[in-house]
Amino acid sequence: MKMTSKKSHSTEFIQEHVLTGYTITPVLRYNLDKTEIGMNIKPISYTGDDSLQHFFASGQEYLHAMELLHEVECKKPIFIEKGSEEYESHYKDDTCHICEEEINCKISLKEFIKLKHEMKIEEDDYTLEKSMEIPMYDANWLKGPKVWDHCHVTGKYRGPAHSVCNQQLKGDKTVPIFFLNLIGYDSHIIFRDIAEIENIDDVQVIAKNLVKFISFSVKMSDCIFKLIFLDSFNFLCSSLSKLTDNLKNKTDILIKESDKIEVYHQYFKNTYNNFRVKHPELSINCFQLLLRKGNY
Ligand SMILES: [Zn+2]
Repeated sequence: MKMTSKKSHSTEFIQEHVLTGYTITPVLRYNLDKTEIGMNIKPISYTGDDSLQHFFASGQEYLHAMELLHEVECKKPIFIEKGSEEYESHYKDDTCHICEEEINCKISLKEFIKLKHEMKIEEDDYTLEKSMEIPMYDANWLKGPKVWDHCHVTGKYRGPAHSVCNQQLKGDKTVPIFFLNLIGYDSHIIFRDIAEIENIDDVQVIAKNLVKFISFSVKMSDCIFKLIFLDSFNFLCSSLSKLTDNLKNKTDILIKESDKIEVYHQYFKNTYNNFRVKHPELSINCFQLLLRKGNY
């Protein structure tokens, strides 16, 4: 924090907040952190000049790693047992589990893709006679026929879906970054200098008003995935120190003394992993001391 004293009309500036460092802790779902690429996605801490430039360079590294992870790990074929309950219900259920609308397009996916292609080419020339009984102005019909939506990471079947809804879900290539109180604080510091950051192609903002941004996404050069900045205060409405204290206090009250270390490892997994990497020589009891000091 740098103290200055500038005057502008009726406002007196008494403080200037300068970014001096950051820590990013990546969190991977579906046990992807156990895969070969996942294991290389590590927390990054930095203190020094050009912290914002450094922060976005780290973001770009994560984006490249996520693209690689997506390419290698996220191509699992659907896993569903023939004759199982969910297999049978797929044929009976005509509601898309993504948009929750009816699936009324009964032609095959191949036919649907062909027709959509023709409709695009002919545009105005396309007539209802040619389309036969196809209700081309029916928004639901245009979402396509029923497909098997599944998780590309685990292979688990999720439910019946319109082919277009399924395609759009697959197209979500974002890496969310959470800040506590992004709207009220961090976004101001990021946006003050974002124009000077190299390798940023595009920034899109969802704004509440001229000074408050609910979220924003950043497209970096040479990356297919985007960084999307979100405020965790919208989900957990309390200060960071209060939230972590609550978690630790809950453990202290509910868990037996002998099980505490094990539970702390689970609740404060990233802090624990970081502690093991940085201080392999210290005993496990030191980790408890670290938590007692308020470092999570
Ligand atoms: Zn749908």
